[in-house]
Amino acid sequence: MVTGAAPRVGVLALQGAFREHRHRLESLGARVTEVRLPTDLAGLGGLILPGGESTTMARLMDEYDLWDPMRDFHASGGALWGTCAGAILLAREVEGAPPQFGGRQRSLGLLDLTVRRNAFGRQVDSFQTSLDVRGLGAPFPAVFIRAPAFTGVGEGTAVLATHAGAAVLARQGRVLASAFHPELTGDARLHRLFLGLVQEAVPAL
Ligand code: GLN
Repeated sequence: MVTGAAPRVGVLALQGAFREHRHRLESLGARVTEVRLPTDLAGLGGLILPGGESTTMARLMDEYDLWDPMRDFHASGGALWGTCAGAILLAREVEGAPPQFGGRQRSLGLLDLTVRRNAFGRQVDSFQTSLDVRGLGAPFPAVFIRAPAFTGVGEGTAVLATHAGAAVLARQGRVLASAFHPELTGDARLHRLFLGLVQEAVPAL
């Protein structure tokens, strides 16, 4: 349970695994808003971008005019966490965009790293493993589904966990990105960490 006033957190609800994040956040005492339109961001302290299909989410973000409002949300102090496809949307640069996108894919550029899509293989190569996460005690159970890897990590970005030599959890100030899906296992520690960022209870790096 979070102490103090319940933090208000949004979950981008255009596509993908947003309900699982919602339930996890609510179980930790947060008040959750499903974000589909720019006006839904009003009054929120944090926003989770879920896993799903980043190209589909990017297209819906075009349609609902969410790009600039999400950047403004960050600029005005909002915390952001992207899981899997959501991490792709946050990155400075995306590698491995499909040919119909001309090999280029739009992203928010709020996290100083390059993300390589589908770095661990296709859907059939999905797997679960345990990660040593900097700052957490016991290993963290992590589900990887057509997951990206973080490459070209910028100086101001801290790598908090790696798998098979690749960065899979990173943080830059109030922006967190995981290549895996913490909402699909029973471990709430990363959601708790994120609520700490939302409440500015975790010092910025
Ligand atoms: N491979 C997907 C993408 O590039 C992400 C998969 C996921 O979010 N589980 O968007």
